[in-house]
Amino acid sequence: MLYSAMNSDGITTIVIKILKKYPLCDRCLGRLFARLSKNLGNDERGKALKITTIMELHKMVLEGNKEALNDLKEVLINSKMPLIGLLKEFNISYQGDAPRCYICEDRLNEVIDTFSELIAKNIVESKRESFLIGVVVPHNLIEKELNIAREFQLQYWESIKRELKREIGKKVQQLTGVKVDFEAPQVTYIVNLINNTIKMEIRSLFIYGVYKKFGRMISQKIWLRKDGTRKYKLAIEDAIKSTLIYVKASDAVMHIAGREDVDVRMLGNGRPIILEYKNPYIHTIDLKTLNDTLNSFSPWIKFNLKMTVRRNFVSRVKKGSTEAFKIYRAIIYSDKALSSKDLVKLEKEFEGKIVMQRTPTRVLSRKRDRVRYRQVYQVKTLYIQPHLFEALIKCEGGLYVKELITGDNGRTLPSFSQALNSTLNCLMLDVLYVHEHI
Ligand SMILES: [Zn+2]
Repeated sequence: MLYSAMNSDGITTIVIKILKKYPLCDRCLGRLFARLSKNLGNDERGKALKITTIMELHKMVLEGNKEALNDLKEVLINSKMPLIGLLKEFNISYQGDAPRCYICEDRLNEVIDTFSELIAKNIVESKRESFLIGVVVPHNLIEKELNIAREFQLQYWESIKRELKREIGKKVQQLTGVKVDFEAPQVTYIVNLINNTIKMEIRSLFIYGVYKKFGRMISQKIWLRKDGTRKYKLAIEDAIKSTLIYVKASDAVMHIAGREDVDVRMLGNGRPIILEYKNPYIHTIDLKTLNDTLNSFSPWIKFNLKMTVRRNFVSRVKKGSTEAFKIYRAIIYSDKALSSKDLVKLEKEFEGKIVMQRTPTRVLSRKRDRVRYRQVYQVKTLYIQPHLFEALIKCEGGLYVKELITGDNGRTLPSFSQALNSTLNCLMLDVLYVHEHI
């Protein structure tokens, strides 16, 4: 009577149907009802379901329900509960070992414990401050679980993958006190149950700062010729690579807001740069020590590191470089003798001037020929002698300053050469100021 009075959708009824057919561990049973009741582990949920179901069936048997007796025997065996008294009462004995869980073969608890401990050990050793767990589950496990969910039309189940990620995460958190971070974890551990390995994906360490270049013929990147020899003795990249030992990273790359030519010095407040250390051993780095290490590399290259940043900062800094203004100083030689008056005229002519530039001849081999328009905000000059003057040029980012001076055979219009009606030669160029636009 009681049996038939139960709602056909009742949980106990479903559990009886499932456990009559499939032996399941507490976790795997609990997981099939994971979204019912909160704040319970699937193991607790599964155990509670088993106990309730067995109690229900036991009651029915005691009340004389013959059909229930058979159910009780099957459920008792497949629930794998150590209810020795009950087993004895109904003369149930296993033939061979107790059946293993149909889905996980009773491996889940061990998997959670073993991997959590290994991960926790690594987190402590490498002083990580946040982590995330990923899991790769064998396909046949996923299939088995999906088949049961379909067979019994279950709606409240969760996947084994989800449970493992959460449970390992929870346990690691308990063991280490370090928190799971879904947004930007310092390290992601991918637990692979196909080959029983853990793969680490370590987030790069990004550090924002500026660099200055006090010498000439220093490139940003290490520039190798086809024969493998260096084109320039020194590069900004050299200084950065020299700190790999300190950061214990597998590689270091740089993201720079724009670039200056190798023969141009980068002075003033410096140029924004982001150092990216790949697979760093630690994420908590002492910026001052790193800064000192960078600066001890060469007297010609100096850094001022400001803060650690997230990856999205890279695009902001790069974008900022085209929007930011810059101030240059040029020492210019003129074929024709010039007077101070000529220079005053030049200043006036270029006040707020929009300049049309086709891609400079000198970079045509690596860059597409196109036309760009950039603004010169202000020019200030200093007369040195009839063939020599100094100019301070404040202009929009991305303007080719050497070509603004020479005119590049008419590819830049207007130009200083054209305005002064003389052939000009830029002898020396320095960047004095790069506006930090972040
Ligand atoms: Zn299981």
